[in-house]
Amino acid sequence: LSEQLNAYFDELDEAVLSEEEENQIVKELEPVMEYFEENMPKPIENVFGNNVPSGFMETAETINIGGDIILDKRDPENAVIISNLVREAKGLPPIEEEEVKVQNITRGFYSDRSGWFQGVKFWPGGKVKYRFDGPNNSQKNAIKQAMREWERVSDRKVHFSEYKNKRWNKFRWKVGLSQHVKITSKNDGSYATLGRKRWAYMNIDDFSQDTILHELGHVLGLMHEHQRPDRDDYILVNTEAAQNINGWSDSKIKNNYEKIGEKSYRWFLKNDIKATEQYDYQSIMHYPSQMFNGEYSIVRKDGKVSFYGRPVVGGYILSDLDKEFIKTLY
Ligand SMILES: [Zn+2]
Repeated sequence: LSEQLNAYFDELDEAVLSEEEENQIVKELEPVMEYFEENMPKPIENVFGNNVPSGFMETAETINIGGDIILDKRDPENAVIISNLVREAKGLPPIEEEEVKVQNITRGFYSDRSGWFQGVKFWPGGKVKYRFDGPNNSQKNAIKQAMREWERVSDRKVHFSEYKNKRWNKFRWKVGLSQHVKITSKNDGSYATLGRKRWAYMNIDDFSQDTILHELGHVLGLMHEHQRPDRDDYILVNTEAAQNINGWSDSKIKNNYEKIGEKSYRWFLKNDIKATEQYDYQSIMHYPSQMFNGEYSIVRKDGKVSFYGRPVVGGYILSDLDKEFIKTLY
């Protein structure tokens, strides 16, 4: 049924439909859509309790990593990773994926059982579908430009293609029929979900290429370089300077700059593929050094400067290691 519905919706995307015809299709989908909206899973409250692992922050609906990586607590795709983070924090042994898989894929059309990895799920075949739900034309073009860049540096191993923002595609997103990234442009910061998700989304607030490339990196499944468990061997974070520059609260600073513990981190790796061995000061996934009163928020432990006279200039362009790594992943 999933395949047939997807094929049908693909045809609708291609077809030239009158408003009347579109309304008729939407009318038929409406009751099913309502059913799904009423039966959406509820996020579990306070999953970590007092055992919040380093590098994580919990809100009512999400678990946030490093300020802009979102794990939606309702998303069945996050069940294994969240369960094991909690168990890890409580000193319990991890559960097997098989158990969780069966428990969580019981509803509706959701029947895709492929692509289950240890933690982050990657887009099968590197094919990422997306749908704009908000951005204007120039914002869309900026996002498409960054997508073309990721495609180019990955030697086309990743590929982005668009769904129209039609009701049947919103339906596909909601029910997990065809997983794709909903792209919005709300004014509440730039953030993204991590890897392939049932409800994958990316919000862009700042439409500069560096920000979009970074958020797309999360969409593709990439974590922050500066939150690597071994980052203390390479950088020193001056949280006071970072706080003065950004005017953030203690918890926001903590969430943005804290490293992730080695045990937690392994839930974010794909099978045996580790983060690139070499520490990458210039990764698009690294926060850059900011300066306040002559003090940098991040400095290199070896005292070197990367370029432009700043200690760490990550987060601006795709580095050589970023390009290598994306080809290893996909
Ligand atoms: Zn980020």
